Amino acid sequence: MSEIRIRCPKCEWEPTKDSKWPCTCGTVWNAFDTAGRCPGCGKIWKDTQCLVEPCKQWSPHLDWYDGLDEIIQKLIEEIEEGWVAVEHERGKGFGVQKNHLAGFVKAKRS
Ligand SMILES: [Zn+2]
Ligand SMILES: [Zn+2]
Repeated sequence: MSEIRIRCPKCEWEPTKDSKWPCTCGTVWNAFDTAGRCPGCGKIWKDTQCLVEPCKQWSPHLDWYDGLDEIIQKLIEEIEEGWVAVEHERGKGFGVQKNHLAGFVKAKRS
């Protein structure tokens, strides 16, 4: 499993545990502790601002998580593998049923 690194998508600055973002309600907190949701008023900040000069740019909160795409890609692959396994099982089950039915028809005819 690859690690998720949090960094500014624009300048690669990595926030620390002590990095704090201010909300319009006056709460100051680490936005990455709550995935962008203000613990004071519940407002969800879909964008997170870079705190360092001269960047100071806003980026979508999810873009800050480096490695997330890989993890999602892996999850999708695992889910697809699961589907293939289910299809395979179903195919087998169906085949058995068909053979059983053919045998039954044969037995009836003779
Ligand atoms: Zn930045
Ligand atoms: Zn707030």
